[in-house]
Amino acid sequence: MENNKTFTMIKPDAVANGHIGGILEKIIKSGFKIVAMKYISLSAEKAGEFYSVHKERPFYKDLVAFMSSGPIVAAILEKDNAIEDYRKLIGATDPSKAEPGTIRNLFAKSIDANAVHGSDSDENAKIEGDFFFSAFERF
Ligand code: GDP
Repeated sequence: MENNKTFTMIKPDAVANGHIGGILEKIIKSGFKIVAMKYISLSAEKAGEFYSVHKERPFYKDLVAFMSSGPIVAAILEKDNAIEDYRKLIGATDPSKAEPGTIRNLFAKSIDANAVHGSDSDENAKIEGDFFFSAFERF
């Protein structure tokens, strides 16, 4: 299993609030290489599939509605220790608890509209990257 890749999404709130550029700048300045990237919108069905691990959670319906409410940027990122370093860079799930200077601290407003996704394991990074990208879309 590779341990130098992670998968991210810039979520609909951050896109709508004009933060694509600011977030990508943070990502690149923090030493991540962009392996693949696309600007797309998820149907409710696709968002539900992506977040199916959370199916039983009380916020699942809201999460699916939110993630299909507008365009997102999806990307595969590469760096040594990618999963841990990217989770550190984005900060806690709840932006009010995210460390100063983290992406969620700077660009997110609430626990549901929290600006970005970041994979939580090497295994999920592979599953999530494969959900969005073919081999021809990776560099
Ligand atoms: P993450 O790995 O930090 O993104 O957090 P989780 O895997 O625990 O949750 C996935 C996503 O579900 C989060 O990024 C939020 O967008 C959303 N979420 C988590 N907890 C809540 C909650 O209590 N309420 C709502 N509405 N959304 C939540």
